[in-house]
Amino acid sequence: MHYTRRPGMARAIRISSLFLILNRFAVLALLAGIGYAWYERSEQSYWITLTTGLVCIFTWIVCAFWSARCRCQLCMAPLLSRAKCNEHHNAKKSFGSYRTRLALAALIISRFRCYFCGEEFTLEQSPKKPDRGPVKDRYVTTIRRSGSLPKKD
Ligand SMILES: [Zn+2]
Repeated sequence: MHYTRRPGMARAIRISSLFLILNRFAVLALLAGIGYAWYERSEQSYWITLTTGLVCIFTWIVCAFWSARCRCQLCMAPLLSRAKCNEHHNAKKSFGSYRTRLALAALIISRFRCYFCGEEFTLEQSPKKPDRGPVKDRYVTTIRRSGSLPKKD
């Protein structure tokens, strides 16, 4: 498992994932709205459909904006935008989409697996390593002084 090196990218992945999921729901709502408007043919149903359509476009734009900053640290493939790269042979889909699976994993468990290189990443920052200063006061002995060198005859 790898840590996300830049906090900005972890944030971009979270926002992009959130809006990708919202967009998926908005598309479903839009389809339902179109069916409803077609069936009902009332002014209210047209407004509902128009609103869900606008929500759809808005979430798509926000998702596209933030996903442009999301790249896999390892293979540099775009994570949440459309790409024509080959997916990893172990990559799995959710609801018929690799991106939805990544977005759900990033939102729910703060971890995701890049579906191009198959490596797992966490959105958390790596724990700070203790600052190791220069070595002081350490008695360094040479091999010759330690006496473990074979004697010359
Ligand atoms: Zn990758």
